[in-house]
Amino acid sequence: MNMNEVVGRDDLLLLTLDTLRYDVARKTWSEGRTPNLARLLGRNGWQERHSPGSFTYAAHAAFFAGFLPTPARPGKHPRLFALGFSGSETTTADTVVLDGDNIVTGLAQRGYHTICIGGVGFFNRQTPLGQVFPGLFRESHWSPELGVACPESTAHQVRLAVRLLQRCPAQQRVFLFLNVYALHQPNCFYLPGQAEDSLASHQAALEYVDRQLPPLFEALSRRGGGFGILCSDHGTAYGEEGYAGHRLGHPVVWTVPYAEIRWEKQP
Ligand SMILES: [Zn+2]
Repeated sequence: MNMNEVVGRDDLLLLTLDTLRYDVARKTWSEGRTPNLARLLGRNGWQERHSPGSFTYAAHAAFFAGFLPTPARPGKHPRLFALGFSGSETTTADTVVLDGDNIVTGLAQRGYHTICIGGVGFFNRQTPLGQVFPGLFRESHWSPELGVACPESTAHQVRLAVRLLQRCPAQQRVFLFLNVYALHQPNCFYLPGQAEDSLASHQAALEYVDRQLPPLFEALSRRGGGFGILCSDHGTAYGEEGYAGHRLGHPVVWTVPYAEIRWEKQP
């Protein structure tokens, strides 16, 4: 895909399913438990990729610099987005090279209205550090009901995204970034009666997220055609080799699900 043809013509979406493990994403997809995601992903489902970071800040800092998760196999993997940087070996004729020090303001310079809907603490604007990423966007949103242990966070995020997309004039191209919180700990409340997070509640959280997504894609496709990236920023450990959580070097953390999707304009 030549991103130079996409940028400027299509709406863009970057949806990070924060903390989603590749093995859980693949299993729920193959068992048909995430039907809405499956429709978006197509025949091959999730790609297995490696994240450039083991926790939210590091991974998103790389994403916003144009370094998305790379295919989990050796080789030089061309990038969709890049910033001007001499000597980059993964910038090809199909890569869109943006101005500035991050792809968000680079897309704004190409005429995009950029929207951030947070998620985890690095997007909550409650501290100077929590303002770094939202501050890249023309418009950013966070409230407790969109993050921190709210079991209905994804439903609230989608409702807000739909409202913001409807407010934007049809001829205005949009770059929407959405950091979905639900997979992150705590997620035990997605399994009734469970008091601790587990792989099973992680999976139940993904099934919850899947049920919330259709209004988002209906709103996007009412505006026009678009291109999106769905991925996780890192996985998380539930006791493997004694590890728990993320910001650590373990395959369950650095292996992430990734997909590139397209949608057409619907009446
Ligand atoms: Zn994260």
